[in-house]
Amino acid sequence: MPLYGAVSWSLTLSQIYIIYGAIIAMIPDIDGPLTHLLCLKHHTHHRTWSHSVLGSFFLVPLLSFAFYSYLFPVLTFTHAMVITTVCFYSHLITDWITAYGICLFWVPWKAPTFYSLGAITIFDSVTLILWYTASIISWYHWMSATRLLLAFTALVSMWLALKRVWLFLAFRHSLSLTKGPLPNRWLQPSSFKPDTFALFYYDGSVKLKAEFRVSKVQRTESEPLGNLLRLAFLDKELGYKRVAPREALERFSEKNRVYAKWMRKHTVPSLVLVAAHAIWFVLAFKAIV
Ligand SMILES: [Zn+2]
Repeated sequence: MPLYGAVSWSLTLSQIYIIYGAIIAMIPDIDGPLTHLLCLKHHTHHRTWSHSVLGSFFLVPLLSFAFYSYLFPVLTFTHAMVITTVCFYSHLITDWITAYGICLFWVPWKAPTFYSLGAITIFDSVTLILWYTASIISWYHWMSATRLLLAFTALVSMWLALKRVWLFLAFRHSLSLTKGPLPNRWLQPSSFKPDTFALFYYDGSVKLKAEFRVSKVQRTESEPLGNLLRLAFLDKELGYKRVAPREALERFSEKNRVYAKWMRKHTVPSLVLVAAHAIWFVLAFKAIV
């Protein structure tokens, strides 16, 4: 019986759900190792087929069937499909929030178009702090799970909405900085400093046009927050397709040395937060063992 494996590992049903959910939420990034294995250009194929609606039509039923077969007769196929779809698309939403974007409507016969909210790059110090605080609250049971989930979702959503407003303000400021059209221009949010953006452009190699703190940018008149939110989310000028050209993101390339250096400078400090949380987790785990 397929359930035998879970029983022999003494796993409860909820533990199986959590492990399965975590694995499925990582599945779209299977394109990473595959590009290396098949010697394909990673920057061209990453976040394309495996991060698309079309890809999900193949992957989700396949994975759901595997999960359903493993837990039969505990789980119905519909239940397995629902869990798999939610976990799979949670990955796509998270990747869409980042500046790298996803090719949601990928089809093999068309040049890929990447969509992005553009609010964060890899790490985001404020989101990390919110996540780590939530994990500590959950670990010590300081709040009910439902309340914690609601509070965390509300705070992260508000923070991301504010980051999108800042991206819009950065975009508007960048128009005054460039004084004319630049080829393949995009804004990169700092992973560590929440209000810092870099304006890059690509004309065969990546150039850093400017780095600025959006909180320090001069604004002529004070605008109502409602108006800024509308412009940030709905105005066509700052479209969701404003992502870096893929050839500019080729790994270990001489063409984007400036970009890689800036990314390292703004990403490495966030690792201190990650390390601090890892140390806390080990200590907290040791305390109960
Ligand atoms: Zn991904």
